[in-house]
Amino acid sequence: MLDTILRGGTVVTCDAADRVLVGGDVLVRGNTIVSVGEVRPRGTTRVVDASGCAVVPGLVQAHVHLCQVVMRGMADDRPLLEWLKERIWPLEAAHDAASLAASAELGLAEAMLGGTTTVLDMGTVREHDAVMEACVRSGVRAISGKAMMDQGDGVPAGLRESTRASLDESERLASRWRGAADGRIGYAYAPRFILSCSEALVRGAAERAAEHGDLVHTHAAEHPEERAAVRSALGDEDVAVLRRWGVAGPRAILAHGVQLTDEEARVLAAEGTRVVHCPSANLKLGSGIARVAELDAMGVKLALGADGAPCNNNLDAWTELRHAALLAKVRTGVTSLPARRAFRLATIDGARALGLDALVGSVEPGKRADLAVVRLDGAHAEPGGDVFSRLVYACGARDVEHVWIDGVRVVSHRQHQRLDVEGVKARAREQAKKLVARAGL
Ligand SMILES: [Zn+2]
Repeated sequence: MLDTILRGGTVVTCDAADRVLVGGDVLVRGNTIVSVGEVRPRGTTRVVDASGCAVVPGLVQAHVHLCQVVMRGMADDRPLLEWLKERIWPLEAAHDAASLAASAELGLAEAMLGGTTTVLDMGTVREHDAVMEACVRSGVRAISGKAMMDQGDGVPAGLRESTRASLDESERLASRWRGAADGRIGYAYAPRFILSCSEALVRGAAERAAEHGDLVHTHAAEHPEERAAVRSALGDEDVAVLRRWGVAGPRAILAHGVQLTDEEARVLAAEGTRVVHCPSANLKLGSGIARVAELDAMGVKLALGADGAPCNNNLDAWTELRHAALLAKVRTGVTSLPARRAFRLATIDGARALGLDALVGSVEPGKRADLAVVRLDGAHAEPGGDVFSRLVYACGARDVEHVWIDGVRVVSHRQHQRLDVEGVKARAREQAKKLVARAGL
């Protein structure tokens, strides 16, 4: 494979010193970044002109549901628990391998074309191999796992499983997919949320994950009504119960955290439990606005994610970045979460949340080449100024020109190199119709 030089861009490293190199080069050999700065091309080197662009670490989305992308627009304007019970669960129960593959490919096409290189994904209960296969095909870096559900009010028969079967299937998937595709793929045990899981299921998931260093990925402290339901069912807050049942520490990833109290945040910070801020989904489901800047100041390890297409309705890391930065100002004052700080949430902090920061999340020699080249010369981003201001407040997915993951160019001149996007869209349209018909909605 030829070496590649990304030449003359503004390199936003997101390294420990948060260096920005104007007119810098990035040399990629195989799957690795070998140097950053000024690089002299050799005869056999491929040069990609990055002038007028920012060269940034690939974006990390630490909470998505690829299985729900095909449901985009099917569950709008409903409260969370109704949204789940009346739309999302019946639709998920109607999934088959073909509809899951179509859903995952559509979501991956959207995310990757927008510069997302790593996702933490929560699947549905059955046929999760189809999502894993789509992740491998697309070239994305993904940690994913099937949703685990062994109880709960309103859970359709198609999603309810026995504790034993849920643990066994998760374990089968984990051993099949952990480390697949040259290490691009990882497994996360995914007890869906505390109301859909028994104590034995959550404890079993946490124990099995710990055996192999897998993640545990769940939802918590999302909506006030959901919290009230948890209190009346379990006599305590979801975060406290999860912690008692073994979901805590650096391998535990909690999506949302909108309702966290100071005391809870202090415990999460002390134990290293990760919280994924999903601002668009929290707005659309009326869950509230997480106190991200305060959680950050208290030392909670944070990341960003789009959540699912039916509650967002995009899988666009840039929208989450912009919403995170803007909403922090409404929540805790205009100096909260400045652009430079916010950008790290979408890159190195996201990687750290997933335990991948030794591998990705910054543009540094020795790290894997997960990179995006982002145009800064759109009419919406000119005439200049601070690169973080442009990236966070002005740029978006439309500005992403090229993307590399593990040294492979997966997007070139805005075209996906692994997925036939027109075919992906056509299959998603067809599968969406079939899914609705099967769900009887
Ligand atoms: Zn979610």
